[in-house]
Amino acid sequence: MSSETHGYSSSLEPVVRLEGVHRVYHLAGEDIHAINDVTLDIWPQRMTAIVGRSGSGKTTLLNLIAGLDKPTQGTVWVLGRNLNQLDERDLLALRLHKLGFVFQSFGLMPLLSARENVGVPLRMRGLPPAEREARVDEALAWVGLTDRAHHRPYELSGGEQQRVAIARALAEDPELVLADEPTGQLDTRTGRRILELLRRMVEERGVTLVIVTHDPQVMAEADIVHELRDGRLVGTRVKEGVGVPGR
Ligand code: ADP
Ligand code: MG
Repeated sequence: MSSETHGYSSSLEPVVRLEGVHRVYHLAGEDIHAINDVTLDIWPQRMTAIVGRSGSGKTTLLNLIAGLDKPTQGTVWVLGRNLNQLDERDLLALRLHKLGFVFQSFGLMPLLSARENVGVPLRMRGLPPAEREARVDEALAWVGLTDRAHHRPYELSGGEQQRVAIARALAEDPELVLADEPTGQLDTRTGRRILELLRRMVEERGVTLVIVTHDPQVMAEADIVHELRDGRLVGTRVKEGVGVPGR
């Protein structure tokens, strides 16, 4: 990797931009302001954590970035596209071609092998089998699970299942990976290993990673940390030595 990636040029565009974003849920006659006037940028090839206690709006924010939910007010741009201007088909294509997802509970299909699970999004894309298999095998090798390729999720440990999920995201060659509490179901040591793998994904594969979490290990590792409280952005911390435009 060139050292260029650590010094940004001034023309650099954020991968995600949220401007004045609100999301209000109406539940049983009550308004829940899950996201309250959030403005922030997510910069390329960085590990950004969005932290806050349970109920602070982290998952809602991730769903808004993924185009799985719509803001009540405000604008979300992803890879230069204004999500308000995209229809469901465009949003699906964006998710399928540009985004990767990693979940707390891994999100693997129980009846499929590790290899088949990694191949699911590529199948949805209609990739020819030979290319699909090459990508799947490469991704499984990258996460160190070649010898577990034919196991089903129940035959794998939690850490291994999360590595399969990371391989699935990686096989898509995504520009942006969104992870919701990826270490939430793992013990501290296993969580540490998963975090190292996510860090390598940023450094070696040039992925932009957004992790929502309340895991202190993730907060310590992240390049940029945004803190949410009751749906509001209450603070942003940039790790020492990390270049961010405008700073
Ligand atoms: P976090 O991921 O930080 O735990 P969430 O984004 O899941 O927080 O939730 C933020 C707030 O919005 C919570 O008060 C939650 O109960 C509420 N909320 C989330 N999703 C919905 C929904 N679909 N309908 C109503 N309220 C919701
Ligand atoms: Mg959540």
